[in-house]
Amino acid sequence: MISIREIKVKTILSPSKIYAWTINPYVGCQYACSYCYARFMQRFSGHQEPWGKFVDVKLNAADLLGAELAKKKRGRVWVSGVCDPYQPLEAEYKLTRKCLEILAQSNWPVIIQTRSPLVLRDLELLKEIKDLTVGFTITTADDAVRRLFEPAAPPVKVRLKALGELRKAGLKTYAMVAPVLPGAEGLAELLQGKVDYLLLDRMNYHYADWVYRKYGLEDKHTEAYFQQIKGKLKLF
Ligand code: SF4
Repeated sequence: MISIREIKVKTILSPSKIYAWTINPYVGCQYACSYCYARFMQRFSGHQEPWGKFVDVKLNAADLLGAELAKKKRGRVWVSGVCDPYQPLEAEYKLTRKCLEILAQSNWPVIIQTRSPLVLRDLELLKEIKDLTVGFTITTADDAVRRLFEPAAPPVKVRLKALGELRKAGLKTYAMVAPVLPGAEGLAELLQGKVDYLLLDRMNYHYADWVYRKYGLEDKHTEAYFQQIKGKLKLF
């Protein structure tokens, strides 16, 4: 059971340390990944529900964005930093889509990061954005491992297929392997021909330590394992 709240916010375009700007049409994320660093948003937003059990829907996101783009310095917009912009609720609310329409009209550069094949719904719109990169986070090649760490997120196969379709449609794509989970060895082969580049990050957060312990996977939670995968993916 997820608590969904429709809200109105005062601002939508925030400065980011990774890219120039970020927008988050939702507060909270239905995917509830065990390692998620964005869970600090729970405290920040005053929610009592655990991470993954609440989503605030920013109804006025697109209206605000239009006005803010007119005032702020043009720079790459990361969609999104602390939620999945194509989490299941987006099918109904279309807030990410509306924001992308405005970014396309305003000709701002965009980078999308998701785990969801719902991004394909917007393929024609994405083709209209002149400077666009679309990335999928794929943390392991082994779907049994994915189920342990990201049980609510789409299966690995589904993400790979979507990534392949985006690339085939002529879009620039990347895969974000972060955190590098057990079973990441096979990713080099699976990602062949589907991405323009890869990003890897060890991600030194400890939220998912209990998952490694529970399933006896601690030997895959080491610097040595990370370096091993980095070596394999370098060959890519
Ligand atoms: S999809 Fe991203 S934001 Fe959502 S729970 Fe997973 S890591 Fe966190």
